[in-house]
Amino acid sequence: MANPSLLILPGDGIGPEVMAQVKRIIDWFGEKRDLAFDVSEDLVGGAAYDKHGVPLSDETMAKAQEVDAVLLGAVGGPAYDNLDFSVKPERGLLRLRKEMDLYANLRPAQCFDALADFSSLKKDIVSGLDIMIVRELTSGVYFGEPRGIHTEDNMRVGVNTQRYTEAEIERGARSAFELAMKRNKKLCSMEKANVMESGILWRDVVTEVSADYPEVELSHMYADNGAMQLVRAPKQFDVIYTDNLFGDILSDCAAMLTGSLGMLPSASLGQPMANGRPKAMYEPVHGSAPDITGQGKANPIACILSFAMALRYSFDEGAEADRLEAAIEKVLADGARTGDLMGPEGGTPLSTVEMGDVILAALDDSL
Ligand code: NAD
Repeated sequence: MANPSLLILPGDGIGPEVMAQVKRIIDWFGEKRDLAFDVSEDLVGGAAYDKHGVPLSDETMAKAQEVDAVLLGAVGGPAYDNLDFSVKPERGLLRLRKEMDLYANLRPAQCFDALADFSSLKKDIVSGLDIMIVRELTSGVYFGEPRGIHTEDNMRVGVNTQRYTEAEIERGARSAFELAMKRNKKLCSMEKANVMESGILWRDVVTEVSADYPEVELSHMYADNGAMQLVRAPKQFDVIYTDNLFGDILSDCAAMLTGSLGMLPSASLGQPMANGRPKAMYEPVHGSAPDITGQGKANPIACILSFAMALRYSFDEGAEADRLEAAIEKVLADGARTGDLMGPEGGTPLSTVEMGDVILAALDDSL
């Protein structure tokens, strides 16, 4: 059988630096675990603009549609800040999400014990935390029509529309239930059914879908209460499913429970392809970090954890994803830190490559 295929798009700034470590990890799985990937690499963002005059060429877009999963670094940077909106680096990212129809955005909030002190919350509240927020990514108030700013009675009026079809709610809900089945079989759906009709429909549709997943314990919560509960007692959750706007806010809030931006992976999933794998793109949450680009300071863990998500959600290699996450847990417990993870006690930070070295050594130890 052919190897599964991966398209790597390192992008700009620290993107290529952190992706270089992911490539070493991918090679390790090929050599040591008989899990080889057909890897191709291409340009996105400012790097693509420099070569092609667009932040994502049609050829790269076509490749992204063909592969089993896309792995992206980061895009953007000061050199591109003044470009026309239509060719800004971020447009490359948006084109990928839109044309691959990636409607379910998965943002885990996982707190490694060794980093629990980095959280703004008390250690016992976040220690061992492992939750997943599934945000509907392609509809809702960011896309609904009518929208715009117009004038009524000599007064400017700003309009956005929260609009969801039942099909849109349902397909995201199925992704969330499937995830819950692979985790602790608990799903909490969040909306504002008390004040929004779209919230009432959201609750109804999620409840209907739950009939197909009798093993999953479903609960509903108003999103404002959800925000409160996330900082009060986040460990009560396993998977959370919510809309585009609430998900934007709640996932950032949950992310900060765990400490550093350099630790946060994400996945965006779409419809299953002919081979049963979902359309998928995996990327760290952080940006291109121009302030540390080229200095060997970037933490590669968010990007490496994004590859672990690919192993789990695209390639059904949950045990190998566990192995990679355990290796990261181990090096952190042993005190390995890049600059962004240095506490007040100080010490010498590892470079990006050195962090890659110790993770590879921990992977070797796991055999
Ligand atoms: P950023 O995430 O790039 O950086 C914010 C801060 O976190 C910086 O101080 C940076 O040094 C630090 N940081 C981020 N990732 C790190 C890592 N892996 N290791 C260590 N430190 C890390 O956000 P920003 O500064 O607001 O944006 C910079 C550029 O990135 C902008 O052009 C922005 O548009 C773009 N951006 C891209 C994405 C993406 O590609 N998905 C996301 C956010 C921002």
